[in-house]
Amino acid sequence: MALTVLLALGSTAPPPAAAPQAAKTVVSAPVLVLPPAAPSLFAAVDPGVTVAAPRVRVALSTNRQEVPLAATAGRLRLLDGRTGAELWPDRASGPVRVVRDVAAEDRDSTLEEVRRIQVGAFRDELQAKDLGARLETELHQPAVTYWDSDRNVWRVRIGEAKEPEALKPLLAQVRESGYPDAWIVREPVRRLEGATLRLLDARWEVRAVASDRIVAVPSGGALVTVEGRPYRGLVEVRLTPYGELLAINEIAVEDYLRGVVPEELGPNLYPELEAQKAQAVAARTYAFGNLGQFTADGYDMCDTPRCQVYRGAGSEQPLSDRAIHETRGEILVWNAAPVNALFTSTCGGHTEDVELVFPEWTYPYLRGVPCGLPPQERKGRGATLVGNPVASVPGAPDPGPEPLNLGRLVAHGIVGREAYDPGWRTVPVQAGEAWSWFAALAAQAGKPVPAAVTDPPGRLALWRATAGLLGIEGSELVAPGDEALVLAVEDADLVAAEDLPLVAALFARGLAYPNAEGRLDPLGVPTRAEVLGWIARAADQYAAAPLEEAQVTAAPSSGPVKIAPRSGRREWTLAVAPDLLAEVGGAWHRVGRVDLLAGDRVLVAADDGRIKLVALRERAGSSDDRTSSKYRWTKVKERAELETSLAPVAPVGELRDLRILSRGRSGRVTAMEIIGVDGRAIVEGFRLRRALDLPETLFSMDVQRDRDGTLRRVTFRGRGWGHGVGLCQVGAFGMARRGADYREILSHYYTGVVLVKVP
Ligand SMILES: [Zn+2]
Repeated sequence: MALTVLLALGSTAPPPAAAPQAAKTVVSAPVLVLPPAAPSLFAAVDPGVTVAAPRVRVALSTNRQEVPLAATAGRLRLLDGRTGAELWPDRASGPVRVVRDVAAEDRDSTLEEVRRIQVGAFRDELQAKDLGARLETELHQPAVTYWDSDRNVWRVRIGEAKEPEALKPLLAQVRESGYPDAWIVREPVRRLEGATLRLLDARWEVRAVASDRIVAVPSGGALVTVEGRPYRGLVEVRLTPYGELLAINEIAVEDYLRGVVPEELGPNLYPELEAQKAQAVAARTYAFGNLGQFTADGYDMCDTPRCQVYRGAGSEQPLSDRAIHETRGEILVWNAAPVNALFTSTCGGHTEDVELVFPEWTYPYLRGVPCGLPPQERKGRGATLVGNPVASVPGAPDPGPEPLNLGRLVAHGIVGREAYDPGWRTVPVQAGEAWSWFAALAAQAGKPVPAAVTDPPGRLALWRATAGLLGIEGSELVAPGDEALVLAVEDADLVAAEDLPLVAALFARGLAYPNAEGRLDPLGVPTRAEVLGWIARAADQYAAAPLEEAQVTAAPSSGPVKIAPRSGRREWTLAVAPDLLAEVGGAWHRVGRVDLLAGDRVLVAADDGRIKLVALRERAGSSDDRTSSKYRWTKVKERAELETSLAPVAPVGELRDLRILSRGRSGRVTAMEIIGVDGRAIVEGFRLRRALDLPETLFSMDVQRDRDGTLRRVTFRGRGWGHGVGLCQVGAFGMARRGADYREILSHYYTGVVLVKVP
């Protein structure tokens, strides 16, 4: 196959993303070998509708007993998949259900014996299905889960062959995967010879079809729907030798990808074109590399995570469509074949060499690389943002409210900047200023202006003002007669009976609470800090003085910082020095300057179209996938939990100890010794993730023991989510955010591969 080489992505040390090297480099064209695709429908049938080549046949996960078909508009033609003859042309329009012709079962079935690998048996159906799914993911072979009514168990079996010899390599893999007791079994299979289908329309009219295949053809620009889901291209429903229905979508590869890319990298969550393009190329590479994987069953690939997730035309999004279109036909090639373009959600800062995670594979292009810039290049790449100066009051106690709440009240003009001075906040409040804060809050909360407060402003007077402002007379939160119980504070009896309902209502909503001495002191004058604390809580409850979740979209070392809120499309350019906060260990602190990187998550308060407050969320590092919610995690496992998850892989009885034997270049644990009362086991690579039931194998351990040395529990602290090999999806998004194009992204995660265009 003659090819245009778009770019030799050949350097072993990927270029820094900030220095684009996307020029087209023409090298000698390799001869690309693609696997043969499953035979198309068109050999037998001319449906009169064009499905552009190259095509792919995707098995849809539908009900296996009954498949409902319809068209999004117009008439749906049904053709005999063997002869091309139109079936039931005089049928009233509307949906049709395809079912098996019942009579066929008794008439034409034969019993046949096959060999399968028995892996496990379970009382619980979910457990069995879960194991089946895991086996499929790890071993890339179809697994079968079925109910054995003789023994009352769910059996999980994998593989199928006529002769046991053919299953030996797979059996070795299964045993290696932690199922040492797996064995090869004989299984009788009922095959249907010459069975046929029948059709039911919406009015329950029935039509027998003298064929085991039908092809659904839409008219005009309409699409076929299967179980209500629309699909481009054509849909075939065929009867398998086991008497089940199989719906297959025959579709142009480029259209297929439109239903894959948004499922794998959601454009709403990851709205960067270049990251979408990288995902599109990876998905297309997978598709071409796996053509014909299930030819024996009449299709190329499945629509589940075992292959890649495909949900038809209903998933399509403009941004992913554009990414697919702009990379039309492009795939990654190594050694004349499509690469095994593995991708992982969040690599946790560094990907890993493939053979350390999946020992059965040795692809030289799947090397561990830093996710983002190499550590030595990470410093000084962002913007330094200098904010308003932080008041320095040596030794002054901080009387609250906590800095983020104070910051938002200042940013929205409810209280002046003097409130940042802790000394100022410890002073008893004055009636006038308290009233002005209430009035500003009322304006932003859409509530009436409160009545004036007279000096001295005792707590009860302020609570009455708050209740008046918020329209609280009593509260459904406290039943009449229960007020004194709600106010379980020693001096609550100082509150007069007529004030009890409103004070209890404020307590129930957290808008009033005991003072620093643990008392109500209803006639005492509160500090400014105490009143601002109530105001901050009320602002929360009425969505006034809001903080918005946002992300830094540009942070050049010289030039303006740009920030975009999650909610909308507008983007702010930072013009004036804002107040700055930084999150450290889960708490907020006011700071004078912060270093920002594109992609950082922030909270902002904007007033009059200007950002007045920037609060930098705890930054997990500088890697490109740091914004993932799975970038860092902590999992606590009691011993019993560990014993349960370890049992199938390392059956060592009561757990005594876990020992890390080796780590890969990313820091991933690549081998661990499991020590129990009944023995020891060594677990390696990706299997370790399942054995410990963790999001990733990039972790450290923190072991706790009882006094007698018994293992009590283990805390795992780690980074990442997935297997850590190949393209890091959130990392690709981060690279795109800081300006990398899709070729740089692909060459970064796949070492030494070539990008080519399939004609
Ligand atoms: Zn990553």
